[in-house]
Amino acid sequence: MKEQEYGPIPGSAILHGVSGQKTIVMAANARIATVAQGIFKAAKDTGSAVFLELARSESDLKGGYTGLTPQAFSDRMRKAAGEVQCDVWALHADHITVKTGSPSEIDQTKQLIDAQIQAGYTSFAIDASHLFDFEGKTVREELEPNIRATTELALFIKNRMKGKDFGLEVEVGEIGRKDGHGLILTKPEEAVEFIRALNEHEIYPQVLAIANGSTHGHTYDENGNVVEQLSIDIPQTRAIAQALRDNNLHVGIAQHGITGTPRDLINLHFPKGDIIKGNVGTFWQDVVFTTLKVYEPALYKEIQDWTLATYRAANPGKKDSQIFDGNCKFAIKEFFKDLYAVSEDTEKAIQAMAYAESLVFFRAFGSYGSASRVRNYLKNK
Ligand SMILES: [Zn+2]
Repeated sequence: MKEQEYGPIPGSAILHGVSGQKTIVMAANARIATVAQGIFKAAKDTGSAVFLELARSESDLKGGYTGLTPQAFSDRMRKAAGEVQCDVWALHADHITVKTGSPSEIDQTKQLIDAQIQAGYTSFAIDASHLFDFEGKTVREELEPNIRATTELALFIKNRMKGKDFGLEVEVGEIGRKDGHGLILTKPEEAVEFIRALNEHEIYPQVLAIANGSTHGHTYDENGNVVEQLSIDIPQTRAIAQALRDNNLHVGIAQHGITGTPRDLINLHFPKGDIIKGNVGTFWQDVVFTTLKVYEPALYKEIQDWTLATYRAANPGKKDSQIFDGNCKFAIKEFFKDLYAVSEDTEKAIQAMAYAESLVFFRAFGSYGSASRVRNYLKNK
């Protein structure tokens, strides 16, 4: 009953609802689902719209590295939202990644999408940014493989959603990709050409993920220590948003890889309104592991030992802390039962910490009160 009442709404309604505001909607990656209740409660208390998401690598038909199938993730998110009566949220499939664009890969991707739709997902991110024709003579030619795969999958979703609204994110420029000189950034003309081509095929995404200097997960200094920094290229991000506006293309920017960016800097310097969706992933995993360290030291030690034993050989010369940090996500499936059978005190601490941290994100993102704008949008649609 409650789960029905507080089920997810279309991601498109949220993104349209905040359009024109200086707001970034947080998309929280709950790869250990326990954090979700705290996030939803903070969203409810601050009137913030929110997305909950997992990527393909984290949640597929076999459970991905979180051990959660799309249905299992959906069930847990609905339950958590129902418990705290949060009503303005979307269930998002992050990074539906296509790496080769081969018929068999596209086919498997469609099976995943079917399962996500079956499980009640309301928003989808198609990521075919790996597909790039380096021999292309024009921007359009370079982007053609990405355009083709994105179009096919977006039309598939549209068809399978049978007239229901849904959120759609697409990606141009692989996030975190480097060449000899450092990170490769998306150019404004690439973003414009990509969205224009999709629009020509009657695909109208609300958000575009770009490569703008962020990377997924933590970044490290030369000693393997985690560094906090404002890694995104703000002028480039603004230039892309402006170019999209100048060309009458109605699409905002999705910022990936926010973990490690200090929130005071996000609060003061992020181009809110140009960026309309902000993905926070690894951060929530840190919340869980930080809590476990104190509340469940024996389990934490087991996870640490397993991760180091499993990944040390593949990471010669790296410090234990960095090996653990980079690979502890793969322990989530391995220790699935234990992670979801922690004591009530532990669970409370994880949720309380997730709650407090969410407040700070919602404030930094300017998203307090955004839920009522979304409700208005839905009312006046
Ligand atoms: Zn991402």
